[in-house]
Amino acid sequence: MGAQVKTIERKGSSLQERLYLPEIFKGMATTFGHLWRNLLDNRKLYVRHYPEVQPEIPVRWRGRHRLTTHEDQTVKCVACFMCQTNCPANCIMIEAGERLDGKAEKMPVKFNIDLLECIYCGYCVEACPVDAIRMDTGIFSVTDNNRESFVLGLEELLTTPGAFSEEEYKKGGA
Ligand code: SF4
Ligand code: SF4
Repeated sequence: MGAQVKTIERKGSSLQERLYLPEIFKGMATTFGHLWRNLLDNRKLYVRHYPEVQPEIPVRWRGRHRLTTHEDQTVKCVACFMCQTNCPANCIMIEAGERLDGKAEKMPVKFNIDLLECIYCGYCVEACPVDAIRMDTGIFSVTDNNRESFVLGLEELLTTPGAFSEEEYKKGGA
């Protein structure tokens, strides 16, 4: 069966549109209408005076990464490489070492995340079988003046605190 083709007649521009100027005035009227309305009463404008007023970060929002620890402050990560394997941007680099505290066989001796490559997809968090990596720091602004500073290391990942309580995090369904 052949495809049914519906031909739509092109109407072209009306005389008013072809004259051009009336349309320009219509557009300008809309622009100035908004301008005056906002000048006289800007309460409905969604303006945030950043950085004085910081945004509210919800629990599920994916911010800068951190590595979580056990209650005794030992690293939770068991160097299974699941996050590195699943990372679509290939920006996680882990080096595993032997673990001697009896909690697991391995632990990371090196754990780097290149934030300039990261696309903040959250796959690393989802892939982790032991909840060792999270993106719940609430850090949304990452700035510096050299590329090296954007590579997070193990120390930095372990010492960055989460922005939410354990209860909030779990309730947020992250
Ligand atoms: S958020 Fe995505 S891109 Fe970034 S480190 Fe995790 S898996 Fe890789
Ligand atoms: S952070 Fe999680 S997924 Fe990544 S290596 Fe450690 S335990 Fe495995």
